[in-house]
Amino acid sequence: MASGSSSSFSRSRSRSIPSSPPPVKCFHDEIAPLRTVKFHGPTRGKRFYGCPYWPRTCGYFKWADEVDEVKELQFMLFEKDTAISELQYEKECLEESVKKLKEKIRSLKMMSMS
Ligand SMILES: [Zn+2]
Repeated sequence: MASGSSSSFSRSRSRSIPSSPPPVKCFHDEIAPLRTVKFHGPTRGKRFYGCPYWPRTCGYFKWADEVDEVKELQFMLFEKDTAISELQYEKECLEESVKKLKEKIRSLKMMSMS
């Protein structure tokens, strides 16, 4: 990520992602705490996000590694987004310089004709 070279470039930062990704929330819209499976069985020790109002849970349940995967994808998406807007800016700059060069060529042609 090159920085500094584009001071005039103002990118919309209204949706602030993702240095700290949004917390996992249950269907109550409450932050779902990270828990660990305590029951004996094949999933013992596995981490998951669940409703904080356990045992009166709203039914929200998600394995932590699944959430991590989603977050990773969201981050990748954000990085792509950033790269795209940087490329768009670069393209605009290039178009601008092409325009200037064309004008220069035109004036040079005019000069050589006269
Ligand atoms: Zn809940």
